[in-house]
Amino acid sequence: MPRQHQPETSLVDPFARQITYLRVSVTDRCDFRCVYCMSEDMTFLPKADVLSLEEIERLCGVFIDLGVRKLRLTGGEPLVRRNIMSLIRGLGRRLDGGGLEELTLTTNASQLAKYADELVDCGVRRINVSCDTLDPNKFRAITRWGDLEKVQAGLAVAKAAGLGIKINTVALRGVNDDEFDDLVRWCGEKGFDLTFIEVMPMGEIGDATRLDQYLPLSMVRARLNERWTLSESAYRSGGPARYYEVAETGRRLGFITPLTHNFCELCNRVRLTCTGTLYMCLGQEDAADLRAPLRAGEDDGPVTAAILEAISRKPKGHDFVIDRRRSGPAVGRHMSVTGG
Ligand code: SAM
Repeated sequence: MPRQHQPETSLVDPFARQITYLRVSVTDRCDFRCVYCMSEDMTFLPKADVLSLEEIERLCGVFIDLGVRKLRLTGGEPLVRRNIMSLIRGLGRRLDGGGLEELTLTTNASQLAKYADELVDCGVRRINVSCDTLDPNKFRAITRWGDLEKVQAGLAVAKAAGLGIKINTVALRGVNDDEFDDLVRWCGEKGFDLTFIEVMPMGEIGDATRLDQYLPLSMVRARLNERWTLSESAYRSGGPARYYEVAETGRRLGFITPLTHNFCELCNRVRLTCTGTLYMCLGQEDAADLRAPLRAGEDDGPVTAAILEAISRKPKGHDFVIDRRRSGPAVGRHMSVTGG
């Protein structure tokens, strides 16, 4: 296997892992209400608690100075935050010699038709787009408020703009498990990579229970293996997915398996919320407040010290479990708070 590129960073956790990847949830708001992610009647954060775009840019700058090389903007839906392109443009200036190697985002694509060209202009080269089904009625049922046609249109504009696209699909038992072959084929035709994700026990979601939705990806992969020629790939995106090449389509197929197999030992990530809270692990409650030291003044010293202290507390890993003996989510916050 080729040696992984190890950028230098002063962010090294107690398990000698270099933290080079920051995910930033720029808003907890979203124009969809995916059934496994949010309840329909979510209460969102008061605006006063949310960092301004200038504050987010400053914080990201401190992380880049400390050795972060990859930034992913997420949410909520990052592209519904007002004036979001000003942040993306500002962060884009740190590419090409400014310390940052990749600026990317995870989006539901509802606003992509509007923003794709500008994203490319700001230095974004590839994006992740969440799409769990190719059936318009099912899409409406899963997202509650989403419109598949708009998403497809956004994808077409993004592709034409030259963005590399990876589709993220949460595997949901009894919901989209009859469509996995179609998704592999569709991504092949469109020139997209595809990653399946196991549903994670995060936040209360109303009626639907995670046990009903949960589908172990080990089963999904075994089934796909019967129809497609999958060969293990050494490719790493810098995230938690493990990849296969699909011989028939020539595209990559990834699996994110936090429940059946976690890859915490290689974790290089931390997550910042739009209120300036830093989570050192997606699946643990421990967090550090960066908003107070950031707002203490123009000197970056206090916030740098708070980040270093937080990294010294990064846990070894999460312990997500979905089973009948455990009721309620493993962590109280929804994915929309920390971002996917
Ligand atoms: N709005 C953007 C989008 O739709 O991609 C970014 C935020 S969304 C929270 C990021 C990703 O998290 C999506 O791919 C979504 O499907 C996934 N997600 C949300 N809740 C999840 C859960 N409980 N388990 C697994 N994935 C989840």
